[in-house]
Parts: sequence; structure tokens; C-alpha cells
Amino acid sequence: MLKGESILQLQIGQLRHDAQTDPLTGIHNRRSLKVWLDKLIHEQTLFTILEIDIDFFKRVNDTYGHDKGDETLKALTVLIQSIARKDDIVARIGGEEFVLVIPNQNSEGAFKIAERLRLAVESSYIDTIGYITISIGIASYPEHGTNIDQVFKKADNALYYAKEHGRNRSVIAN
Ligand code: GH3
Ligand code: MG
Ligand code: MG
Repeated sequence: MLKGESILQLQIGQLRHDAQTDPLTGIHNRRSLKVWLDKLIHEQTLFTILEIDIDFFKRVNDTYGHDKGDETLKALTVLIQSIARKDDIVARIGGEEFVLVIPNQNSEGAFKIAERLRLAVESSYIDTIGYITISIGIASYPEHGTNIDQVFKKADNALYYAKEHGRNRSVIAN
């Protein structure tokens, strides 16, 4: 039998895990992502972020319902995880917005990975829903900014450009 102290330890561990995890997909949440990015910057490790947003996701919910929308978010999570490597960080930072952080990768290298992900998504049949596409904004530290907010702002702008120029595309920040 577990002693009281061990149970407490387990509960603390569970709470810590819950605080860092997105409940729907089981990947990092926004808060946990921030901790990892702070660590990378503290170590002066260069990295690139892919900011990933589903195209016309509202239609999926409107057509198939919110539960099927949630299933789609889980299916996309699996696809992102299948592209990610050991040291990459996969996070869900908002409703249908995901971030893949690739340490030690500049924006050019990351663009190739983004395109691999984008093509994998557009060619993957999702049960009942059919096919979805994603747009990806790409920005690097320290190439596009010297702090997290700057890098995200640049990735946001690149994502916005991708949305404005036809969607289903990857765009590197300028
Ligand atoms: P765009 O191509 O411009 O990104 O269009 P969009 O429809 O994807 O974007 P918009 O921001 O208009 O809508 C995002 C939708 O995502 C709104 C909401 O219905 C849906 N959404 C947000 N969070 C969740 C969630 O947790 N589950 C589900 N099922 N849907 C969500
Ligand atoms: Mg969005
Ligand atoms: Mg969207």
C-alpha cells in the first residue's frame, strides 16, 4: 500500500502534468510551451517555430458538429507528432492553433519540414470529415526576433499572409 506521502507525491506529479497539458490532445499547452521556449532562449539555442492554423475550420464544426471538430484536432495532433522529432515541442496554443518548435533549425530548414507536414495533412483522410488543409507561419530565433513575443509576432504575420494568399501554404516571416 502507498504511504500518505507517496500518494501526495503522485498527486503533485499529476497536478504538474495537468497544468502543462492540453486536455483534448495531450500535448503541451500554451503555458508549458512558454517554459520550453524560455529555456531555449536561456541556453541561446536557435530554433524555428511553425505556427499552424486549420483552414476554414469553422466549416468543419458547422457541417459536422463540435465533437467531430474535436476529433479533427486530435487527428491533426497525430499528424504533427508524426513529423516532429525527439527534441521538437508540439503544443496547442488556442482553439485550432498549434505550434511546432524545432530546435537547432533555421527558417529554411524548417520550411521543408513545414511543407512535409502541410502535404501530409492535405493528403490524409480524416474519418467522416474528409480532407482538411492548414496554413503555416514560420519564424526563427534569433533570425526574426530576439525575444519570444517578437518571434511569435513575425510568425503571426507570416500566417496571416498565408491566409490572405490562398491558404494551404507555408510562409517564412520577413
Ligand atoms: P481560417 O481559414 O481563416 O483560419 O478560417 P477558420 O474558420 O479556421 O477560422 P476562424 O477563426 O473563423 O474559426 C476558428 C474556429 O475554430 C471557430 C471555432 O468554431 C473553432 N474552434 C475553436 N476551438 C475549438 C475547439 O476546441 N473545438 C472545436 N471543435 N472547434 C474549435
Ligand atoms: Mg485560428
Ligand atoms: Mg483557422
